[in-house]
Amino acid sequence: MTQNIQRNRPSLAKGSGQSGAEYLDGPVAIIGAGIGGLTAALSLQHFGVPVRVFEQARALREIGAGVTITPNAMNVLDFLGIGSALAEQAGETLRYFVRSSADGRELERGPDPDSFVPEFGAPYCNLHRADLHLALTDAVTKSDPDAILLDHRFDYLEQDDDKVIAHFSNRTTFEAPALIGADGGASAIRSAVFGGQSASYTGHVALRALVPFTRVPQAIIADPYALYVGAGRSLIHYPLRRQTTMNLLGNAQASQWQAEGWSIPATVKEFLSLFEDFPEPVRELVAAIPEPDLFKWGLRDREPLPVWTRGRVTMLGDAAHPMTPYLGQGACMAIEDGMILGRAFAASQDLAEAFSRYEAARRDRANGVQLAARYQGTQHHGSTASGPSSGKTAATLGLFSYNPVTASI
Ligand code: FAD
Repeated sequence: MTQNIQRNRPSLAKGSGQSGAEYLDGPVAIIGAGIGGLTAALSLQHFGVPVRVFEQARALREIGAGVTITPNAMNVLDFLGIGSALAEQAGETLRYFVRSSADGRELERGPDPDSFVPEFGAPYCNLHRADLHLALTDAVTKSDPDAILLDHRFDYLEQDDDKVIAHFSNRTTFEAPALIGADGGASAIRSAVFGGQSASYTGHVALRALVPFTRVPQAIIADPYALYVGAGRSLIHYPLRRQTTMNLLGNAQASQWQAEGWSIPATVKEFLSLFEDFPEPVRELVAAIPEPDLFKWGLRDREPLPVWTRGRVTMLGDAAHPMTPYLGQGACMAIEDGMILGRAFAASQDLAEAFSRYEAARRDRANGVQLAARYQGTQHHGSTASGPSSGKTAATLGLFSYNPVTASI
């Protein structure tokens, strides 16, 4: 059933007494136009803070993959004015089932999808990353056509009591009163400000693909949102874009080192060899992947950082708290960060207060989710005595109850 219940829209609008940040003498620099950087840009703009977002890519685009956006993050997208259209594009929210990879038996079922809006004020949506990215980009540039600068690869920075200067590999520089590192898991800002924190290969490779519904086996169409957990592996599939495309993500232990990135090609043979004992419909779905649309990613893990801010520089999203995908919360945490950052700027008298409010509101939650995601991987893959299990999902951990629009900061 489509969710059509009126959603909560807390009034925290511009001009409500919380806008301003007049202590800033110029636009805030945001490095990275990913989901986190763009959400932060939109949130800051909402509170009257001008931004310049510097992105290394020559063109704005997102990769073809699904992303689970749960009510905690959908509340932000609703507040920033893009949630309803995205939910419309996604279509009906389905209930998920956690199943055993040995025999397909149900281990757990997700909450009733119709309960999300009444309980948390926003729905749970499975979005196409490109749709989310485009909606954010459009909203940011509608507010300020000059806000996003492409082909700007951050190199290094200098800062003093008055300003921070970012240097880019195209030999340009930008001086700002504050700088936000939103440049993802391999963050150059984190290295520049906090020193090289080495990332360890988790020994897990993620294989991801989109399969047009016309190629999806009937047995999968009948059970479209499922997470299979098994010894050393897990696999999730769910529909996108009003059930026209099936998103598929398999995570498997692979001791041989694998590279990290969104566009490393993989083969159906490789995918099948890792999941050969999974139920037949799942193997048929893997066999149906159009091969050019299949990619792999060697998952990395990093220890939580005790501090995210130094002087006029702070970080958000994967730059601050990169996490494994086992709770489906990395993008959601980046969206939460972005919302809180805008509110912190608006509620403060100076930059130090803004960053301190932001970090105090975000660090324990995001670092906690980072560790919980790591633990959830061990539950799914059965590294514990009880064998593969559904563990504690984002729903059962209670993560949806946090609303970044109204949470205290
Ligand atoms: P990114 O999305 O990585 O964006 C960083 C941006 O910075 C990019 O545009 C990049 O080009 C730019 N950049 C990098 N370096 C520089 C530089 N030096 N100068 C300028 N620009 C730079 N999360 C969920 O919530 N739900 C899910 O279902 C989910 N599924 C996932 C599945 C997989 C396989 C993986 C790997 C992750 C998944 N995640 C999911 C996590 C999610 O993708 C990330 O947490 C999220 O993309 C983080 O957003 P971000 O903006 O911090 O970083």
